[in-house]
Amino acid sequence: MAYTPAAIPPGYRRESMSEERVAQQSRLTGMDELVSLCARRGFIFQSSEIYGGINGFWDYGPLGTELKNNLKALWWQRVVRERPDVEGIDTAIIAHPRTWEASGHVEHFTDPMVDCRSCKRRFRADQLDVPCPEAPKKRQASDCDLTEARNFNLMLQTQVGASEEAASIAYLRAETCQPIFTGFKRVREAARQKIPFGIAQIGKAFRNEINPRNFTFRSREFEQAELEFFCHPSEREQWFAHWRDQRLDFHRELGFGDDHLRTRPHAEDELAHYARAALDIEYLFPFGWQEIEGIHDRGDWDLSRHGEYSGKDLGITDPDTKEHYVPMVIETSVGVDRTCLALLANAYVEETFEGGETRVVMRFHPSLAPLKAAVLPLSKKLAEPAQRLASDLRKELNVFYDDAGNIGRRYRRQDEAGTPFCVTLDFETESDGKVTVRERDAMTQERISVDAVAAYLLARVGDRV
Ligand code: ATP
Repeated sequence: MAYTPAAIPPGYRRESMSEERVAQQSRLTGMDELVSLCARRGFIFQSSEIYGGINGFWDYGPLGTELKNNLKALWWQRVVRERPDVEGIDTAIIAHPRTWEASGHVEHFTDPMVDCRSCKRRFRADQLDVPCPEAPKKRQASDCDLTEARNFNLMLQTQVGASEEAASIAYLRAETCQPIFTGFKRVREAARQKIPFGIAQIGKAFRNEINPRNFTFRSREFEQAELEFFCHPSEREQWFAHWRDQRLDFHRELGFGDDHLRTRPHAEDELAHYARAALDIEYLFPFGWQEIEGIHDRGDWDLSRHGEYSGKDLGITDPDTKEHYVPMVIETSVGVDRTCLALLANAYVEETFEGGETRVVMRFHPSLAPLKAAVLPLSKKLAEPAQRLASDLRKELNVFYDDAGNIGRRYRRQDEAGTPFCVTLDFETESDGKVTVRERDAMTQERISVDAVAAYLLARVGDRV
């Protein structure tokens, strides 16, 4: 088929694009820009939006789902697949209610809560630096007419079965690790693992947070990726250090620089009821340094308690020394949604060009980017070969196709989505068999053969997961 040459649309500067000079680059300063980009581009938006939303619950749209899946796949690869000493599982969200008695959650999983006598709102007693939504502008909850602090259990309850007796009450899991402990014996035997080894899972957790806030940072429904690593008591410090280092490396691999990543050991009085030692990995969000992952030495708390409550021996016997003991547990627990939020905040860059034009570009690492490439024919007349190329590429990569509107605007849309490469077919493609590949960050353009595009992209977007 012969193409009718047409005037090159404005915004397409194949030769000069790389000359666009960035005069100024700025990272995210507040959350508003990010929240609106996430909703507009379909990364993350309020759940039940048409009903006004539901506080503490969020939905991931097409781009957000891909980003989150890529993050989970990378975690699974590094923590489970690459390790002969870690097994992955996927357990039910609802466990036998005794699980949460044994784990200490029924008794201890509480936050101190206060009520405001005038506006009737509820706040976390240790977080009163939030604005009171009912009061005149800028008044903080700490200025409200507050009651004494009371403890409030964070577990969400549900009912299982048709009867409404107390016996039918069950809890949505508050953390994904408890079924790992209750399934410890079964998994170890089935997988023929010996101590030291770990069990990992990714899944939903639910907490009835008193004040969900900071976008998805504190939600009521969220995902965790947790590893419980079982070791001999004499090796707990060594494994704690090992996993701390592994997990820090993981966050660096995500692209978090040392200026945005730090560790914070817990003081003695901060430790959770089960923990012997704990350390947070924190990311510098626009709203300050906040925990994205916890590394905990949980000792033998969980296995001993479940042993006691179930009447089953969850200890193990060393095959060589015949020593019988309850293994110690080193836990790494990362919030998938919090890390996604850190990825989004970290990727966000606003650039101003020398001419005054601006663009927002999401600089995701290509292997985490939701879309790997966009195929953009210069004109709708080139739709047919462009769609053919897009569907070929889709066999290997997540590829977007867009033939609507000005090419410059199409590039900007892909910059906002964080797509590392745009592949443009133009009127010369028919004669020279080449396309222009534009790189997202440097905006450099390269002319390569259509047949080589798949290999070119695969080599650059990485196949880390
Ligand atoms: P925080 O002190 O912020 O409430 P935590 O110390 O209770 O967190 P852990 O119980 O250690 O958190 O949970 C491990 C990880 O799960 C956290 O590092 C975080 O990334 C994630 N997480 C915990 N609570 C929430 C939540 N409400 N919303 C989103 N992610 C959460």
